[in-house]
Amino acid sequence: MHLDSMLDQARARLYEAAGHLDITADVLEKLKSPRETTQARLVIRMDDGSSKSYPAWRCRYDDTLGPTKGGIRFHPDVSIDEVETLAFLMTMKCAVINLPLGGAKGGVRVDIHNLSATEQERLARRYVQCFAKVIGPNRDIPAPDVYTNSTIMAWMADEYAAIVGEVTPAVITGKPIALGGSLGREDATARGGYYLLLHQAQKLGLRPGARVAIQGFGNAGKHIAQLLGAAGFKIVAVTDSKGGVQCSSGLDVDKLISAKRQGSVTSLAGSDGVCTLPADELVSVDCELLVLAALEDMVHAGNAARVKAHVILELANAPITPEADKILNAKSIVVLPDILANAGGVTVSYFEWVQNRQGDSWPIEQVHARLKTKMEQEGDAVWTLAQEKGITLRSAAYVHALSRLAEAIEAQGTQR
Ligand code: GLU
Repeated sequence: MHLDSMLDQARARLYEAAGHLDITADVLEKLKSPRETTQARLVIRMDDGSSKSYPAWRCRYDDTLGPTKGGIRFHPDVSIDEVETLAFLMTMKCAVINLPLGGAKGGVRVDIHNLSATEQERLARRYVQCFAKVIGPNRDIPAPDVYTNSTIMAWMADEYAAIVGEVTPAVITGKPIALGGSLGREDATARGGYYLLLHQAQKLGLRPGARVAIQGFGNAGKHIAQLLGAAGFKIVAVTDSKGGVQCSSGLDVDKLISAKRQGSVTSLAGSDGVCTLPADELVSVDCELLVLAALEDMVHAGNAARVKAHVILELANAPITPEADKILNAKSIVVLPDILANAGGVTVSYFEWVQNRQGDSWPIEQVHARLKTKMEQEGDAVWTLAQEKGITLRSAAYVHALSRLAEAIEAQGTQR
């Protein structure tokens, strides 16, 4: 139980960053709350003929830097507080990585596992019907997030085209390649984090062969396991929502992926020296690198002291609470923060949006090269700021993002 809302906690990081900059009061006034949050109840027909309804939101947090951008999550714990917090994080993320985009987020409170494919399609289409006025290729551009994927983006793009009477691929990113999706979007979140990590590996004291524990085996977790495994890191523990497995001599990533495809990584336990690992013990596994690729608040005041890794890569959004941040910092554990470390996803989404607007499609080499450059450049800028000011990488990422937002807000004039 939090005393403050999630948004209050996130905002505290903004105020802390403001203390390191000389910015006008206008800037914080504009950024302290979302500019618009729309709520709807999505009523859909179920396969058995009954109807059910699900609460849904879309928050456009801030559009100073450009049209707002952010994923749509389908999860049973979605709330307005979570959607607004994640939209705030998207605002900071787009600013830190220097995209001409603002921040947004959407969500539906639903357990997608209880819906058939046709019910999921009706839900996705209803979402667009209810939020068609909010989204748009120059206004607000959704994308995948937790438990949404390219198939769901395809249904949404199709529904939007039917509503406005124009094929509009740039209204949504993370689409299937056949419908204007970008090459390299699928593994972009993990790949961005991977480029950042490899670029800073020496400074972080990480060598290939280093042991890695990964929390979460969805899109981000699976792809980071593949990338790090191929680069010679040893994946010693993995969890998904059903539990986990560990093996001190290293887990076979291909086997993890096929186990997950059949339900859960836990089915690997019992073979080749692989043991069961209770999900809540993942963060305390003996390793050099901990990758957080699940949900919010997974490292908290109750378990942060047990973290043994030297470096944490945040591929999920907000997986570490502010209290836990303090504990990790006191233990000199370096955190590569979410708004920088998982920005690869939105960066390749931005590339997709650019390609759609140009009617073009880039080769994979171009997508990878441009993503790598962005992660390395902004990663270096954040690292340097942290050194200069003697602050954590998270604080430095906020300072870096806020200085860009402040410059833009101040340039907008005072008579708005
Ligand atoms: N859902 C992803 C994120 O949290 C990607 C958002 C996007 O591509 O717009 O960063």
